[in-house]
Amino acid sequence: MKKKKKTTVDMCSDCPAICCHDLALMITKPKSKEEISELKWEIMYDTVNVCIRNHKWYTLIKGRCIYLDKNNLCSNYNNRPGRCRRHNPPDCERYGGWYDVMISSPEELDDYLKNRKK
Ligand code: SF4
Ligand code: SF4
Repeated sequence: MKKKKKTTVDMCSDCPAICCHDLALMITKPKSKEEISELKWEIMYDTVNVCIRNHKWYTLIKGRCIYLDKNNLCSNYNNRPGRCRRHNPPDCERYGGWYDVMISSPEELDDYLKNRKK
């Protein structure tokens, strides 16, 4: 029997809306000592990570969208921003395809930059 393809709605069902609990802001790749030091300072906070996707760098700030209701559903669904509309599975946090690299501490940033130079 042919397997039915999962739709976006199926793939989101029972998800605790992981994508509505983080905010990705694009940044430029840190190059100078000062830029690296600034970024290290940001990721000392446990609510802030850095992720890299398709060679683009982002700070990822954990939090919770104010429009997410207590059932983890969007209470602003019809007016949700384009960024929300374009963010769909399987290219999302739940299925692991959203980023290529996740960096969550100054030490991990040092390791990543050191290994990239090799
Ligand atoms: S897009 Fe991904 S992370 Fe967001 S609700 Fe759907 S399955 Fe969950
Ligand atoms: S507006 Fe809705 S879909 Fe967008 S982040 Fe908030 S709760 Fe999620």
